[in-house]
Amino acid sequence: MTPDDRSAGLLEALAALSPKLANRATALDREGRFPTQDIADLEAIGGLIASLPRDLGGFGLGTEPGQGLQLLDYLEALGTANLSVGRIVEAHINALRLIMRCGNEGLREEAASAVRAGGLFALWVTDAPGESALRFEREGGALILRGGKAFCSGAGHVTHAVVTAAEAGTDAPRLLMLDLDRGERVSPLPTAMSGMRAAVTGQVDFTKLRVDGGRIIGQPGDYMREPDFSAGAWRSSAVALGGLRALLGLLGNALVVRGRDSDPHQRVRYGETLMAYRTGQLWLEQAGQAAENLIAPPEQIVATVGLARTIVERACLDGIERVQRSLGLSAFLSGTAVERVARDLQTYLRQPAIDEVLVQAGGYFMTRPDGLWGRRS
Ligand SMILES: Cc1cc2nc3c(=O)[nH]c(=O)nc-3n(C[C@H](O)[C@H](O)[C@H](O)COP(=O)(O)OP(=O)(O)OC[C@H]3O[C@@H](n4cnc5c(N)ncnc54)[C@H](O)[C@@H]3O)c2cc1C
Repeated sequence: MTPDDRSAGLLEALAALSPKLANRATALDREGRFPTQDIADLEAIGGLIASLPRDLGGFGLGTEPGQGLQLLDYLEALGTANLSVGRIVEAHINALRLIMRCGNEGLREEAASAVRAGGLFALWVTDAPGESALRFEREGGALILRGGKAFCSGAGHVTHAVVTAAEAGTDAPRLLMLDLDRGERVSPLPTAMSGMRAAVTGQVDFTKLRVDGGRIIGQPGDYMREPDFSAGAWRSSAVALGGLRALLGLLGNALVVRGRDSDPHQRVRYGETLMAYRTGQLWLEQAGQAAENLIAPPEQIVATVGLARTIVERACLDGIERVQRSLGLSAFLSGTAVERVARDLQTYLRQPAIDEVLVQAGGYFMTRPDGLWGRRS
């Protein structure tokens, strides 16, 4: 079976599983509960090993070139079913990608064998404020950690995390691969997020944890190396676009059920949202291909992803507004699917440095517009 066949099989299995994920999402949100069953179901259809390279037992989804479109379909489908599940799997893919790109053979093999045994990875890079930021000192062959991470999705539930940590006396952050449940302290955020509650985003303190020096992934500066550092954002946009797709489905159903589907204003709002959704998807096709295949100069890949990310954000924000306008107060009834998806999507769209992204992309293409016209390979 080729990797394409395996990815197609995964997408088919996910299509069959998605209604279950969507049905469970309301209770998970209400209880702020981690989607343990959903992740187990995804594991059962190969959804967690899919991102391992082929030579380590996976399909290379997100870790090998040539699979941008399949990865877009996978992440978007997850986001459509439940944005929190999409966020958790996106982080798993991002973490594995870093290990596979920068790690030595021992770490790559170790990570792969953990995933083959059902392990789930997180990527925690957002530091706790000030002096609490994660750092480490060397003691013999070991690393002694101090400080912690904020905004840790899956905290207390994932089995492994890739974290950034500064080495004492140096500036460039290093990447560490950590097995979890070894004495780190997990706590909720001081103030809970209003959306994405099932992603269970907390804070983790690693102070006094001692880990083997061999847990350092790659070289100083690897984490922020472009184009991967910025271009990886297309994957979170793919999940977000799935949220917009879910809203379109909910809106269409609600209008039909209420007998309001032939009203021209409702049709125009629906059509506008559909166009914006498809525009975002076309942009992500181009950005995903560029980012996964590295087919253009790094700055151009980053700029292409920046434009795609901005367009998807705009499409989602406008889509939320139109859905709320179309359904009125019923879009705000707590615990309904439409209220939850809109709340999750608004929260998930808050990704780093959105203004800066458009400044970079606009500046890049101002003198090189031809970079965008080329067809995707
Ligand atoms: C659901 C969810 C799960 C998450 N899970 C994780 C996780 O598992 N691991 C992890 O590491 N992180 C996680 N994060 C955090 C995430 O990585 C970002 O830190 C966070 O989303 C940043 O959002 P922000 O809107 O506050 O960004 P900011 O970059 O602070 O942007 C806010 C606004 O400030 C502007 N701005 C940015 N920088 C400047 C500046 N220097 N001067 C002036 N204006 C500026 C931006 O353009 C924007 O308008 C998660 C976030 C969410 C929403």
